[in-house]
Amino acid sequence: MRRAIEVPLDHVLDGLLSESQDSMYKFKATIVDILYKDEPWYLSSKTCRKKVKVIKEVVACINCNIDNVEYAMRYCLRLEVCGGEKRARVVLFEAANSLLGCKVQEYIQTTSIKKEECHYYRKLVLSKDKQFNFLVRIDLTDANPRRSLIAEEIHQLEDEAPIILE
Ligand SMILES: [Zn+2]
Repeated sequence: MRRAIEVPLDHVLDGLLSESQDSMYKFKATIVDILYKDEPWYLSSKTCRKKVKVIKEVVACINCNIDNVEYAMRYCLRLEVCGGEKRARVVLFEAANSLLGCKVQEYIQTTSIKKEECHYYRKLVLSKDKQFNFLVRIDLTDANPRRSLIAEEIHQLEDEAPIILE
């Protein structure tokens, strides 16, 4: 994980952050819910990365105002996390690669038939109730309350190694 100041989640949510050089922070939190877990991806405009609309085989990006825009599948995994007393929404785009262990095309392909038997899907489901380190970039000039955070990295915290006494 890249270097970042570790802070409690409530400091991130309440804006109680001291300015770090590159505004990267990490916090520990437990995944308490996985939202839209059946489809953690979307069709993304290659120009602006916003969601495209497919109407009668025409792929349009409203944001770019282009029909037949070039697009790609992109992860968008929404998590509800809990750290201390606080809850937050965390969104993973590229960071979902490391949580699920594969690229989005492979994820879609392997979960398209019996997703319950898919290793990657199980990995996703089993991440619930586990603790992770989340790395987020916070724009300190943005005074809006943070309803959701975008995680650039996610790493599971190692379980305590069992102590084996002989
Ligand atoms: Zn676009």
